[in-house]
Amino acid sequence: MFLANVSLFDFRNYAELELTLERSATVFFGGNAQGKTNLLEAVALSALTRSPRTQQAAELVRFGQPAARVTCGVQSDAGLKELEVRISVSPAAPSRASRRFTLNGIAKRSTDMMGSLRVVLFWPDDLQLVKGPGEGRRRFLNTLLSQVDPDHARELTRYGHLLEQRNALLRAIREGRQPIDGLDYWTTALAESGAAIMVERQRRLLELQPIAAAFHRELSDDRERLELRYRPAGVRIGEAPLELVSEQLKLAMRDARDEEIGRGQTAVGPQRDDIEVWLDEHEARLFASQGQQRSAVLSLKLAELHYLAEVTGEQPVLLLDDVMSELDPARRERLLAALQPGPQALITAADLNDLPKSILERATVFRVEQGAIHA
Ligand code: ATP
Ligand code: MG
Repeated sequence: MFLANVSLFDFRNYAELELTLERSATVFFGGNAQGKTNLLEAVALSALTRSPRTQQAAELVRFGQPAARVTCGVQSDAGLKELEVRISVSPAAPSRASRRFTLNGIAKRSTDMMGSLRVVLFWPDDLQLVKGPGEGRRRFLNTLLSQVDPDHARELTRYGHLLEQRNALLRAIREGRQPIDGLDYWTTALAESGAAIMVERQRRLLELQPIAAAFHRELSDDRERLELRYRPAGVRIGEAPLELVSEQLKLAMRDARDEEIGRGQTAVGPQRDDIEVWLDEHEARLFASQGQQRSAVLSLKLAELHYLAEVTGEQPVLLLDDVMSELDPARRERLLAALQPGPQALITAADLNDLPKSILERATVFRVEQGAIHA
């Protein structure tokens, strides 16, 4: 699939923008704080329904304005689709905002937008993917799985709501506002939804693992073996069927009941999972050098790109925000190789010298300046 056009209205520092894109690579360059990341953020928002850099939709609306709009025209095997996101700041509470979505002019729920535009975003924050906390790796997996299968996005949303309700009940029980009897119902519902997510994570990681390992083998000149190890919180999955995982989760919650009530928080489940990255029998988070970690991150990102294309049968759109300058020439070359013949790529750089000639020769180049884009 490819992004044919983007239009922005009062999004971040863009008052108004109409942009037509080529099918191949497009480079956006410009000084700091001009709007390069904001543009890729708008595309990611359309694809994923949330900004990858903030939970607060109100931040996306141009300062002092009541609402923002992002429209993307996407050409895919299914024809041309128009995705629109509107964000309106609540007049009563300016830090809050609502999001509304339409697909070809028809109102949709956020989870029904998933899959219409698939993206792989690679930006400087991702360099923490291996070294940083588990949350980043869970987000990596959630984003990938939701784009591969919108049902997974729906299950994640459902789980999130159930978890919120159960945690609220745990706090109410702690404060004596609710009896403990009601807890079982939420425990069962949460365990069923959580087990579905965990079994899917396990299955998909097993498929992703050899792809990431192959990229890493190549990046390390055949010296290192990368492994992804799923660490589900509170259960052992192995070959266990869904019902058994759900049963294990329920039991784990019952065992932790007093602790859960004391903290007002659910102790086990996919929100606590981790996906460990290992290099040659050592956990990369703890033992890998900076260079090894960068290679591992790049392997994960290339695997994401490859896996999405393989499972859906369509190339996603690659969003590269300022990462070329962070990579050494060998890793840069490997990333570029993935672009040929490959996916449409939107690439930002503060300095054109950070980009290899081979990309500049075949890319359309735009200059970004104060929320405007010039040819
Ligand atoms: P860098 O090279 O430093 O990464 P950039 O071009 O990627 O720069 P962006 O992150 O896109 O820069 O941000 C550009 C500007 O957008 C910043 O100066 C920021 O203050 C401004 N900005 C962020 N949110 C809003 C908003 N809601 N309204 C108006 N301007 C905003
Ligand atoms: Mg930026």
